[in-house]
Amino acid sequence: MLLPVLVAATITVAATTSDLRELVAAVGGERVRVESLTDPRQDPHAREIHPRQLALLGKSDVLVRVGLDHEPWLARAAKTVPPPAHDVDCSRVVTLLGTETPRLRADRAVHVHAFGNPHYWLDPENAHGITAAIADALGRVAPADRAVFEENRRRFLARLDAALLRWRARLAPYEGTRVVSVHDTWPYFARRFGLVVAGTVEERPGVPPSPAYVGTLIERMRASGVRVVLAEPGASGAVVRRIADGAGARVVTLAPSVGADPQAMDYLALFETNVTRLAETLESLR
Ligand SMILES: [Zn+2]
Repeated sequence: MLLPVLVAATITVAATTSDLRELVAAVGGERVRVESLTDPRQDPHAREIHPRQLALLGKSDVLVRVGLDHEPWLARAAKTVPPPAHDVDCSRVVTLLGTETPRLRADRAVHVHAFGNPHYWLDPENAHGITAAIADALGRVAPADRAVFEENRRRFLARLDAALLRWRARLAPYEGTRVVSVHDTWPYFARRFGLVVAGTVEERPGVPPSPAYVGTLIERMRASGVRVVLAEPGASGAVVRRIADGAGARVVTLAPSVGADPQAMDYLALFETNVTRLAETLESLR
């Protein structure tokens, strides 16, 4: 005769991005099954949800999302499947940058970052608030496991904080370096690691540059000594190359999300990869 075994039910979590998936996994450990609803190799602002992910969303206990205008597909998905009972909007627990950007008209074609810059997972310090919100939501689904989630979180943050000291030390010699980025992905990362984002290749977030803008940007970069362009996988290579060549700058390709680059397959590896590539590029310019 088989003895009945009490096994705690697994909590199903849908994260809208791979970065949030990693933070959920760090807190939930073996008690959660979490998947990202989108593919990190796609343009973060032009993602769509596929049927399999839609089904996952429909049967999830918890939704963890970036918020702001980062998931325009989510409202459409909610018309097809019932939203999870617990909804964690991580933008509410971080201090946002770029909220002074004028609101762009919602009925116009391209407009992103209209409610503040959503790329806040790129400051490791923000993982503190995000994981606290995740632990709180998981604890509401499984109150008996609150202590487990808190302990998982504590251990993860201890590793992250130790790594952050190392990463900051690696980039400390370059504090105040002015860089240009292709998309406005890096304000949180730049603030944490002492860089200054002096401009973007995109004329506005999500809007490709006009030839006139490209000319002005190259002039400005030359005038202010910008010698590094932060690019991302899949970014419009030809324009970026032309700008970098015109300004005498190096292009360094960073991973904007976990899984966007084969070397950035978890949250710590994301920063390890980006800090290393950046430091090597800056070293080579000395
Ligand atoms: Zn963006």
